Amino acid sequence: MLEERSAGTILYQESPSGKMYLLLNYPSGHWDFVKGNIEKGETFRQTVLREVREETGITDIDFIDGFEDKVEYHYQRDGEVIHKEVVFFLASTKTNDVVLSHEHRDYIWLNFNDALKKLTYKTAQKLFKKVKDLGFES
Ligand code: ATP
Repeated sequence: MLEERSAGTILYQESPSGKMYLLLNYPSGHWDFVKGNIEKGETFRQTVLREVREETGITDIDFIDGFEDKVEYHYQRDGEVIHKEVVFFLASTKTNDVVLSHEHRDYIWLNFNDALKKLTYKTAQKLFKKVKDLGFES
């Protein structure tokens, strides 16, 4: 089985009405957090910084220490089953404007409950709920 590794982040900004989380609409149709494949020699956090910059144009991100988790799934590409693992961090930004790359269809900033509903996959929802379990989201 082919193995694929990505790293990503649950990225939020503070707004007058609370934390707003960034989701992207992927070309295959799903909504998920910013993430991307780990390039050779990169640490997970370096991948996240690069992917956030490339996919959204955001360059100011602060990692929240103490949150690191993993999402796992299988999918098929050209008839091959791929096992994918994505390491996720939690991070904040002060940037509101997103410059979307051609790799995505759309983006949206949503509060916790709306973002939870918008996430396409249960695995991503489960990860996201851990942010609330941390007591991070009031
Ligand atoms: P990356 O952002 O890591 O470069 P990608 O855009 O190449 O990723 P994925 O978002 O991993 O690809 O999507 C690859 C396939 O896996 C798609 O068919 C997608 O629907 C499916 N997929 C994505 N996330 C999940 C998930 N959490 N659970 C199950 N299937 C998923």
